[in-house]
Amino acid sequence: MRRRTFLIGVAALPVAGGSPPIRTCEDWGARPPQEPLVLVGRPVRILIHHTATANSDDLSIGHAYELARWIQDLHMDTNGWADSGQHFTISRGGVLMEGRHGSRDALEAGDRMVVGAHCPGQNDRAIGIENEGIYMDTVPPQQQWDSLVQFCAHVCDRYNIPTTEIFGHRDFFVTQCPGDALYAMLPRLRSEVAAQFR
Ligand SMILES: [Zn+2]
Repeated sequence: MRRRTFLIGVAALPVAGGSPPIRTCEDWGARPPQEPLVLVGRPVRILIHHTATANSDDLSIGHAYELARWIQDLHMDTNGWADSGQHFTISRGGVLMEGRHGSRDALEAGDRMVVGAHCPGQNDRAIGIENEGIYMDTVPPQQQWDSLVQFCAHVCDRYNIPTTEIFGHRDFFVTQCPGDALYAMLPRLRSEVAAQFR
């Protein structure tokens, strides 16, 4: 079923503020994928995740890159996946990074996505954003939240995704992700992302 073309032709509105820079796989020193990655047409939604790792106080770019490498190792060596499962990662310091190779170029092209491995049934239709931390009863730091809002606006803009199509991992899979506290913030996330277009 091809549902992802329904907004083609709708003029994108200017995004206020702009998205933080996307640090690529090359920037953080990713390993090459273990098998070829697959491109499909544009995604129809965004899924928000938390990494369920410690709520680190290290907001540096070095720590962010270390996290990206750690996730990739886990996904490739423990889970046996081709590459990092998620398309993008945001550290607690607000550093925005590419996860799976090719995700940035596909986003900027606006008409394609790399098939991910972040939520069964959604990997060929949803962009997965991992947020560093565990947000069961505490909320993300301001820098991370701001990056998330601005980046979601950029993703909605590039792919013509309605801001109402931002969901949590748990909306499509049995999981605690993205944590009770962050999940409770998703209505606010949708409205703050929508506000970026006014
Ligand atoms: Zn998740």
